[in-house]
Amino acid sequence: MAIDFEKYAKYSRPAPRYTSYPTANEFHEGFEAGDLAAAIERSNASGRDLSLYFHLPFCRSACYFCGCNVIYTSKDEAKERYIDYLDREIKVAAQTLNTARPVRQLHFGGGTPTFFSAAQLTAIIKIIKKHFKKIAKDAEFSVEIDPRFFNEDHMKALQEGSVNRVSFGAQDFDAQVQEAVHRVQSFDETARAVKIARSHGIKSVNIDLIYGLPFQTIESFTRTIALALSLAPDRVALFNYAHVPWIKKTMRKLDETTLPKPETKLKMLQSAIETLESGGLEMIGMDHFASPKDELNIALKNGKLHRNFQGYTTHNECDLFGFGVTSISEGRDFYAQNFRDLASYEAAIDAGKAPLMRGIRLGEEDLLRKKIIGELMSNFALDFAAISKEFKINFREKFGEEIAALAPFAEENLLTIGENSIAIAPTGRLLIRNIAIIFDEFLQKTEEVKRQFSKSV
Ligand code: SF4
Repeated sequence: MAIDFEKYAKYSRPAPRYTSYPTANEFHEGFEAGDLAAAIERSNASGRDLSLYFHLPFCRSACYFCGCNVIYTSKDEAKERYIDYLDREIKVAAQTLNTARPVRQLHFGGGTPTFFSAAQLTAIIKIIKKHFKKIAKDAEFSVEIDPRFFNEDHMKALQEGSVNRVSFGAQDFDAQVQEAVHRVQSFDETARAVKIARSHGIKSVNIDLIYGLPFQTIESFTRTIALALSLAPDRVALFNYAHVPWIKKTMRKLDETTLPKPETKLKMLQSAIETLESGGLEMIGMDHFASPKDELNIALKNGKLHRNFQGYTTHNECDLFGFGVTSISEGRDFYAQNFRDLASYEAAIDAGKAPLMRGIRLGEEDLLRKKIIGELMSNFALDFAAISKEFKINFREKFGEEIAALAPFAEENLLTIGENSIAIAPTGRLLIRNIAIIFDEFLQKTEEVKRQFSKSV
């Protein structure tokens, strides 16, 4: 895949990553407890299975590139207290949520989930199993792991709790880059962590990498990719560093003059794609790579890949319920987000209420556009007839303006517009956010895009 810088620079502009539609910026406080209760009732009645997310927010220190909602502490009492609140939060949720629904997917994200001790992780899993009695035997249970805080005991606790997928944060193996971003983690530390997981029979190992960090060069990042491949991961997530210091204060600690220029980033990306593909992984979605046998890859080939807050997934049949500070729940027709700060989160639970900060109910128009943007972001194609049938519309008539707005992309061979379909070319995938945003009714109306989102390239 040859990347033509001029072409990409022309189309690259701030755009969301679309882990939801509408984006979280559209969630609002007018979505209140009663709206959430009604949404959960509809979810219970839908017969859909459950996917559960637990946000474990603690970290020892800040990695300067990090965009997550993190609480820096090394106090054990803070973690014990948080576990108690998770238990109480599920109890509050269970007043409306039918916890007897089958659970197909569980995910621990953070923060650093393994910054909790092995015994604490066991306690969390025990709490989950106490409340949710029908966890499927083949449920996918994944955990994000920081290799710097991970040992044999953590792995035993996770394995006994039925964890079967792990994702290791590596980001970059170059010493100068690691110093600059305040995350020093040797390659050997990561290799040791992968070995522990494999020795406990974990079949699915993901490694997270980021391009666009300070001092990265094409050569240094290609070396990082080669080192990651030497660990034989089943998946690699390759994220474009989103520099938004006006939103994340810790990013202000990075010296902007050391960040690679957009042209270098594109070359880095091109080299990374080539190295990952020659290492046997295939590109799925806009930022993931997976082995040909991986279920995400199979789902992409069958047009069944989906995107949610954890990235790409095959479990679109589930409603997602999130627990812990900042976590987001997603049903077929709503999103709801918990308070981002611990004090408000705890106060709500103390009052016996769901710690709801904001949310949104989706109308028919939102559901239609969610479907379109989801298909573009995940499967890189639109089937007009299928969407017209599902939403009882005439796609070509309704989206005439949007199709016309895609013409420049078609002229550059980044996509093809057929009579009844749109197909994104492999080179167009890198601009998928800029293509998807054309169908975003909220962001087409606002000037706020620049301020809120990072550039797509
Ligand atoms: S990257 Fe991971 S370990 Fe670093 S601050 Fe963010 S959540 Fe914590």
